[in-house]
Amino acid sequence: MQKTPDHAVITPTEAIQAGTHGWRAKCLQRLIRLDLPVPRTVALPFTAVRAIASGQPAPATAILEAFEPGVLLSVRPSPENTDWGGPGTLLNIGLNGESHARLAQTHGQAVADALYLRFIQSYAIHVARLDPDMFDASAATPEALRTALRAYEQETDEPFPEDPARQLTQALRSMSRAWEGTTARLLRKAKGAPEDAGLGLVVQEMALGMGHGVSGSGVIQFVDSTTGLPQITGRYLSQSLGRDALTRAGEGTIYLQRDPRGPSLEELAPEVFEDLIRYGAICRRRLREEMQIEFTLENGRIRVLDAIRVTRSSRAKLKIAVALAEDGVIGKDEAVLRVEPRALSELLHPQVDPRGARDVFARGIAASPGAAVGRLVFSSASAQASAARGESCILVRRETSPEDIRGMHAAQGVLTERGGMTSHAAVIARGLGLPCVVGASGLQLDPREKRLIAAGGRILNEGDLVTLDGTAGEALAGEAMMLAPALDDDFRKFLSWADEFRDIGVRANADTPEDALTALNFSAEGVGLCRTEHMFFEQDRLIAMREMIFADDPKDRASSLTRLLPMQREDFIHLFSIMEGLPVCIRLFDPPLHEFLPHSREGLRELAEALDRPLSEITRRAEALSEFNPMLGMRGVRLGVTLPEIYEMQAQAIFEATIAVGARGIQVVPEIMIPLVSAMREVELVKTRLEAVAAQVRARRGVDFAYKLGVMVETPRACLRAGDIAQHAGFLSFGTNDLTQMTYGLSRDDAGRFMSAYVNQGVFPEDPFHTLDIDGVGELLLIGAERGRATRPDLTLSICGEHGGNPESIAFARRAGFDYVSCSPYRVPLARLAAAHLALQERKGLKS
Ligand code: PEP
Ligand code: MG
Repeated sequence: MQKTPDHAVITPTEAIQAGTHGWRAKCLQRLIRLDLPVPRTVALPFTAVRAIASGQPAPATAILEAFEPGVLLSVRPSPENTDWGGPGTLLNIGLNGESHARLAQTHGQAVADALYLRFIQSYAIHVARLDPDMFDASAATPEALRTALRAYEQETDEPFPEDPARQLTQALRSMSRAWEGTTARLLRKAKGAPEDAGLGLVVQEMALGMGHGVSGSGVIQFVDSTTGLPQITGRYLSQSLGRDALTRAGEGTIYLQRDPRGPSLEELAPEVFEDLIRYGAICRRRLREEMQIEFTLENGRIRVLDAIRVTRSSRAKLKIAVALAEDGVIGKDEAVLRVEPRALSELLHPQVDPRGARDVFARGIAASPGAAVGRLVFSSASAQASAARGESCILVRRETSPEDIRGMHAAQGVLTERGGMTSHAAVIARGLGLPCVVGASGLQLDPREKRLIAAGGRILNEGDLVTLDGTAGEALAGEAMMLAPALDDDFRKFLSWADEFRDIGVRANADTPEDALTALNFSAEGVGLCRTEHMFFEQDRLIAMREMIFADDPKDRASSLTRLLPMQREDFIHLFSIMEGLPVCIRLFDPPLHEFLPHSREGLRELAEALDRPLSEITRRAEALSEFNPMLGMRGVRLGVTLPEIYEMQAQAIFEATIAVGARGIQVVPEIMIPLVSAMREVELVKTRLEAVAAQVRARRGVDFAYKLGVMVETPRACLRAGDIAQHAGFLSFGTNDLTQMTYGLSRDDAGRFMSAYVNQGVFPEDPFHTLDIDGVGELLLIGAERGRATRPDLTLSICGEHGGNPESIAFARRAGFDYVSCSPYRVPLARLAAAHLALQERKGLKS
């Protein structure tokens, strides 16, 4: 039979583990090993606590023998994980008539009375489980003591226990049982604790922070929890014990460090203050962590009762990890692992400073992180007007639609009454890096009156100053205190360390010069997807496009395209120049043609005028071009095959731009990508035409250049036929948005209507447009990759759909041997860190 581990005095060598005795016991052992003045402590392992809860007698007498006779004790919970809660601490066990009298002599009558009263109260409430209302006296008078003792006796039919062994037995039993209670179970389960999570208990000699001389208790830490910068913070309360300093403000509060506002511990007891600083430094170096130290002073004598990791914001996490690595306390690899990738998004945007006041008027879903201050506006037109006046604004809409894009661009933040994580507002805001809160259902919007009524009837009008907190999912009245984005040297340094370990490339999807600049700023290794279609929506280009679509013969078509050519060339020159020679992957024209046609009668008339054709003809041709299912219609390479001149014009623009930037010393090998391919022949046709264009440009300009041709794999058939396709492609980039749509037969634009019902009922574990479906879509990716590489072992493989920036997709791509992922510019830092984590975890044997 295995021996059940029993309670033990914590010594430097005793076998104490967080997994058997809980984190607190383990932490105290570490502090003892560091020679910190920790009072004598006995640890009870999970097994012992479980036995007590199930009715076995608590080993109180044996525990008491480990201490000097007559000392007072505390009992504290020690679960495996700090977050899992546990019963409240019990202080001053051992107080009875006799020790009360003794205490009065050593510490004074008032202190003895106060401690005794507190002990009777907490014992009655937490151990004997009596009605708290009967024990609510706050002034520790002799009369209050007598009343409390009498109340105890009346309620329990026995006198208040005088025997310390009995007090301790009952305390241990009550705390052990509390851990098994339903509420406690549910609470810790919500925090991720397993069903059988154990509780350890630590019994510690009391350090009394009351009495003569400098006495009190406090906590101290050496970095700021919000910024992570070195700073002594904490609290000290004279004549107090336990965590009083944290819970009881007011009289007796003394600053830790010298402070013009009042007395400080530094002045009152300089040697104690110095000791605390020294303990902090020892903990930091030896525990390799910033710790918050809980201490008690008894007549100037310092005791360390506990130390916990400093709680910290995401930005503080990064700062602390960088500082520890720079000081050689931890390695760069460990620093990188200490910040989880998703925490980075908090650093990329301004945030509401948690230290400031928050006047919340609406709550919703935190759809896009960051925070912004601006004046309320209720329409996109007002948002644009604000922007024109140079004023910041927060756009509030019931929900947004494509017409609101300009308004969203003009606003600093977006708040909607309806919608979820994949609603229009949420998706666009994340792309723009704008803070956004959606589904704020407690709001009543009254756009006509230009006001909103918040829960509780509070009215806010257009022009009122508000703060939108997209990280917390809240809207606050007024201008909140803000923290600037933390894209400082430490941020860059940290990510450059991550890059040292990363073994998969990270590029950005960048369609505009601003995107490209952001991508470069975040050290993307190139552009993985430049969607060229946006370049045609500007007014002057739109007219040329429409002329091209309506042209009767190739000659007319070519003349319209000639007008578009210089504009496209400029686009690419700009893009190549920004990216300074890094790879740029340009996707040829993809959207359905009808998107370029006017939809209103007015628009059709304008087009008829511009083209000098009868309205009836324009209307008829526009109708003929409309499709039942444009997403599966004439788009992508299908356009390139039917109207080859568009791709030819784009290729010419790319080649000429390559020559132009080459002349300025920027050498680019552009990557040209063909979208929506499903058959090898499509690639063959486009490839032949592009080769002809390249030959013409080379001949005409007398300059040679190289380029790469690749295929965007976003139809299931392209995955299955990747072996053929790779004969004509130097790279395959998986467009997981369309591939998800086509694998599921699920419209990208309509899925939002029923996605939540599907996820709630467990049909899909997650929205597959958000989290890559590894089982289905993933299998197609693997088939495509394997067949492609079988044909061409040096084939470059990547993912460029929205999934590219998710840590789970990156893990998948890495396992499958892909070369890079490409994601929206703001997700590049997260992707770099996630990729580094994967490599490091594999190296450490943590995950495969
Ligand atoms: C895709 O389909 O995954 C993709 C990146 O292209 P788009 O979203 O432009 O269709
Ligand atoms: Mg696509």
